[in-house]
Parts: sequence; C-alpha cells; structure tokens
Amino acid sequence: MMNAASVNKDWEIVEKALRILREYPLCDSCLGRMFALLGRGLTNAERGRALKTLIVMELHRRIRGGDTGARKLLEEIAPRLRPVVDTLYRELHGAEPRQEPCYICGSDFSTLVKRAADAATKELATSDARTFLVAAHVPAELQSREDEVKTLHRLQYSEGIGSEVKREVSKHIQRSLGLKPDFENPDVLVNVMLSQWTVRLQYLPLLLRGRYWKLARRVSQSIWVTGSRERRYPFSIEDGISILADIYDGQDAILHGAGREDADVRMLGTGRPFIVEVKEARRRSIGLVAAELAANKRSDGLARYMLEGRARRADVASLKGIEGRHSKVYKALVVTALPFKDDDLARLETFFRNRGIRQRTPRRVRHRRPDVVRERIVFSVATRRLGGRVFEALIHTEGGLYIKELVSGDNGDTEPSFSAVLGVNAYCAELDVVGVLGEDTAESL
Ligand SMILES: [Zn+2]
Repeated sequence: MMNAASVNKDWEIVEKALRILREYPLCDSCLGRMFALLGRGLTNAERGRALKTLIVMELHRRIRGGDTGARKLLEEIAPRLRPVVDTLYRELHGAEPRQEPCYICGSDFSTLVKRAADAATKELATSDARTFLVAAHVPAELQSREDEVKTLHRLQYSEGIGSEVKREVSKHIQRSLGLKPDFENPDVLVNVMLSQWTVRLQYLPLLLRGRYWKLARRVSQSIWVTGSRERRYPFSIEDGISILADIYDGQDAILHGAGREDADVRMLGTGRPFIVEVKEARRRSIGLVAAELAANKRSDGLARYMLEGRARRADVASLKGIEGRHSKVYKALVVTALPFKDDDLARLETFFRNRGIRQRTPRRVRHRRPDVVRERIVFSVATRRLGGRVFEALIHTEGGLYIKELVSGDNGDTEPSFSAVLGVNAYCAELDVVGVLGEDTAESL
C-alpha cells in the first residue's frame, strides 16, 4: 500500500493524506480541510481524524503481517497521527510519541478556534447585539503555508482556513448565545485575528430613519462651526438627535437629511425625512420611543423628532438622492415695495400654474455651491392677503428650487419671479417648509 503504484485508485484520498502527512505535520482540522468539499455534514476535524484513523489501521494491519517497512513508517510519522496512534505506539514502543506542532496553524486548530470563539462569546454576552458576522484576518505567512501544501499535493477539494474560522466561530456563537449571522447588515463584526488568535469586536453603525420638524428659526440642520471655530447657531437639528449617541452607547450620531432648509427656514407640516447614523453603537435594542423622547426633550421646543425604524446603508444614498424627486410645499411671507391689488395676487396664482423656472445658483450661496442654471417647475401658488404690502403664499414646487429667489428674482438670475409678475420688487421675509412629499404625491396637491 505504501508504494503509490500499488494503490487501488478507489482509495486515493487515504493515499494522498498519507503523502501529505509524510511531508507535513498537520492537526486533524488542517488535514481535514484539504478534503473539505468531500463528504457532507462533517467537520474538517472529523475528516482529518477519520483519515488518520484509516492510516493507523492500515499500518497496523501491515505490521501484524510482518511488514517492517510499515513499522518504520509508523514510527516516523507517529507524532503526526496523534492521538489516534497513541495506544498502538505505546504497545509497540513502550512510550508516547513526540508532540509536533501543525505546520499550517502552528498548534491544534480546534483548540485555537474554541479559544477565539469563547473570547468572542464572552464579549458578545455583555452586549445586546442580535446579529453578527465573523471576519477572519489571515496573516500572509499562514496563508502561504496553507497554499504550499495545497499546491504541492494538487488538492482540488480543499477550502481556506479563513472560511473554516468564520464558519466554526459563527456556529459557536449561534449555539451559545442564540445570535443570528447577518451577511448584509450585522449589528457587530467579530474580527478574528489569526496572527495571535485574538478577537476584536467592531460595532457597526446603527441606522434609524425618521422625520424632523424645525419649530424655530436660526437653527441649522447640521452642527455648523465657523472658520474661527465658533458655532454659527447655538442649536442644530443634529444637536438634538446627537443624544442618541449616549442612548445607544455609540461614539457619535450623524444626521443625513433628505435635503435641507436654510437655517432661518422652519420645517413644519409633514416634517423632513432623515436617517441618523449612530457610530459604533454598542446598545442596539433600546426602543425608538425612548430615544425619540430623549431627543425631543433635549431640543427644548426648537425641534421635534419622530423615529420610524431601522434603516440600511443603501437607504442613506437613496435618501440623499431623494431631494430632486420630492416635491415641496412652502409657506412664504412676502413683502412688496409698493402696495398691490387683489387682481395682482390672482394673476400671480394663474401665472404660476405648472410654470417652468430657470434659476441660476443664487448670489448668496454661489461662493459655496456650484454655479449652475437649473430648471424646475412650480406646480401651484395660492395666496392670502395680510396687508397692503404683505401676503402669504403657499408654493408647491419641484424639489431643488430656491424659494427666496423665486420671490425676489435675484436681479434677473431667477426667471420668471414674483417680482417680475407683480411688476414690483417682492421680498421673502419669512419662509417655512410645510411639505416634503414623495414622488407619488407630487401631482396630487
Ligand atoms: Zn492545524
């Protein structure tokens, strides 16, 4: 049997395993991994142990038949057949075989995996993560030792040590804590560093979607720090929601809005959709109501928040892309330079019915935004006279139109404008967003 030429082809796996073991000491798992795709429902440790058992049995059969070559071979590779060979070896030689570390993992893979899995389980037990994903970091030297064995013996049914670590640690965590693996959006990433077989937990951002209302003016959406490192406004929408970093035991809470309004513009009515990203959130199962209450309390009447549920990473990109697709409803307080008549307001309403607007980036923001000409549609304008030179306008428009300039005309850079249609300079004294509407409702107002 030891001569390759005399081997029955049907038992190629055992022959191959023996050839590998003559060259490299491998623990059960590392040997089994070389044949990982063969046989179902087995661990690699079971595969490796089975192969070693067969080899020991075959060598024993030969020895009993008086084969001195087999006896010599058994003595030579006994350290690589432990512990299966131990009793037989003691019977033959009256001693224990030597210990030999595994060529690939340097020890015994099962013990290493168990140690890493126990460390991960211990840390995870104190968190309230519900889903996880295991990542294996395989050092280059280890990888090249494994590749060397595979290449040399043309092992086409093997798998990588990283895959086995991921699967085995994952199974262990599932069994002992009942957590579920999630390949797309896990609560926590369990990093196993194979260099030292240590574990580092990495809590992924917790993403929650909701809506906010801005009830006061001079409130920016995100925290706005000026060049001189001072705050432009004392409070921002992001400030209120940042309490979620404490609540979910995270590092930071970042607000992603579906567009934004100017600091002096309130956000009323439907509220504006947002996603808050709590970085490295360790506590993940706090109820939304409790979080919402805390944010509202902190905002002290300046803002209000509603949290609706979990979001996914891809939702952040689509939320940001939403700006152009959402239609908006604004309430503007308009003051004119000269008194107007009721007829003038009626004309304004008729004129701005599904009216296309050409708007160059307003002068006031041209220094920080690209200077482009955009075209947007105003769907409708409804007005209410409040005084001889003051009226209120409800403006329903495509997203992305600057309303203050729609009113003033921005010295001709927005055409047409309220000023142009009324024939008198008009100015937007106060502005509120009262509706951020979905694509489907754009035409329904
Ligand atoms: Zn090993």
